[in-house]
Amino acid sequence: MIPVENALEIVLAHAPRLAVENVDFQDALGRVLAEDVFSDLDLPPFPRSAMDGYALRAEDVTHASTKLQVIGTIPAGTNPSFEVKKGQAAQILTGAPVPRGADSVHIVEKTRLYGTDVEILELVTPGQNIIPRGKEVTTGDTVLRKGTLLGPAAVAVAATVGKTRFQVGCRPRVAVIATGNELVPPTRKPGPAQIRNSNGYSLSAQATKAGARVSYLGVAEDDKASLSPLIRQGLTHDVLLLSGGVSMGRLDLVEEVLEEFGVRILIDKVALKPGKPTVFGIGPNDHLVFGLPGNPVSTMVTFELFVRPALAKMAGSVDTGRPLLSATLKGPLASKGPRRAYLPGWLDTSSAEALPEAHPIVSRGSGDIVAFSKANALLILPENIDRMEAGETIRVNPLDSFLFRESPWQNETAK
Ligand code: AMP
Ligand code: MG
Repeated sequence: MIPVENALEIVLAHAPRLAVENVDFQDALGRVLAEDVFSDLDLPPFPRSAMDGYALRAEDVTHASTKLQVIGTIPAGTNPSFEVKKGQAAQILTGAPVPRGADSVHIVEKTRLYGTDVEILELVTPGQNIIPRGKEVTTGDTVLRKGTLLGPAAVAVAATVGKTRFQVGCRPRVAVIATGNELVPPTRKPGPAQIRNSNGYSLSAQATKAGARVSYLGVAEDDKASLSPLIRQGLTHDVLLLSGGVSMGRLDLVEEVLEEFGVRILIDKVALKPGKPTVFGIGPNDHLVFGLPGNPVSTMVTFELFVRPALAKMAGSVDTGRPLLSATLKGPLASKGPRRAYLPGWLDTSSAEALPEAHPIVSRGSGDIVAFSKANALLILPENIDRMEAGETIRVNPLDSFLFRESPWQNETAK
C-alpha cells in the first residue's frame, strides 16, 4: 500500500507527453498550447482614446471653462487626416486614433457643446484617457506561453495578434470498460441482485471533461473470456480505464488478465479511502492502464486523483494538480484507519470569514453516488487521523463543480 503522493508520482512519471497537432484557434478551447505565441503588432497599434470625449492639447485648457473650436469628429475605425492645433479640439469616440497635435482626451460628460465650440469644464492632465501605441504589448512580445490551457481569453489573444493556427498537444485517446456480472444497462430495470452500470458513464464523462477522446467499449463479465477481447481492444488506446474487478474476490480477475496481456503492474494498492485497490500499470506499447475500484464513488475519486492529472500531462499541461484550498470545517468528519480519506463536501465561499466553510455531506460511503453527486469538493482527512471536529482547518480538493456556486441541495447539505 503506497501513499497517495507516491502513487501520483508514479503515474505522472509514466504518463508520456503526446505528439502535437496544428489546429485552428477557434477549435482550441480546452487544449494546451505547445508553442509560444508572439504579437505581430504593437498594442494598441495607434494611440487609442479610452473614452468618448474631446481630443485636445492639455496646455490650451488654462481654466475650468475654456472654450475650444471643434474641428471634426473621429469615430472608431477612422484615421484622422487633420491635426489639432492651438485652441482646437476634435470630438473622439472610444477606440478611435487620437489625432496629431492632441495629447489628451477629455470625457464628454465634463464638457458642454455650443454650436462649433466646446466648453471644457475641468483642467486636463496631459496624456489622460489616451493609451499610447505599444503601451500594452510591443511587436515581438510573447503573448501566450507554451503550456497554457487555452480558455476564452487566450482565444481572444490569438485573434488579436492574428495567430489563427497553432500547435497544441494531442488529446489522449481513452478506452473505458466497466466490469461486473451484476451490471445491466441504464435502460433496463435491474433484476434480483443486479444493479445498473453507472461507472462506464461516469468515467466516460470525466475523461471527456478532462479533454480526452473517449471510446466506451462496454461491459465485461467477470471471466477471462469476456474480459480478454475488450482489454485487447482497450490496449490500443493511449489510456485504458477499467472499473471494478480489482479487489481480493475470487472473481476479481482484472489484474491477472492485464498481466497476461503484458501489462506491467506498478501500483496495486493505495493508502486511500475510498480507492484502496486502485491498480496502475504500463501496457506493452507504454500505454497507461488504470484498474479503478468499482464502487461508484471510489471510481470517481480515483479518476480525479490519478487519471485526470495523467491526462492533463499527456495533453501538454505543465502543472496538472488541483489548487488545494484551506477551509473551516463546519461539522465533524470521521474515517477510521491509517488511510487518507477524501470525503464529499460542500465548500461555501460566501461567508465573510477569511477561510471558506467546508460542510461535510452525509454519505453512506463509497457506494453512495447520490450523496457524492451533491459535492463540489473532497474534504481531506489526513493519514492516521480518525476524526476532525467543527472549527478545525481542513485541506480541500475542489471539484469542477466548485466553480458553479448554485446548488439546489445547498440548504440541505450545508447545514
Ligand atoms: P468491484 O470493485 O468490482 O468489487 O465492485 C465494487 C462495488 O461496486 C460492487 O458493489 C459493484 O456492484 C459496484 N460496481 C461495480 N461496477 C459498477 C458499475 N459499473 N456501476 C455501478 N456500480 C458498480
Ligand atoms: Mg466486480
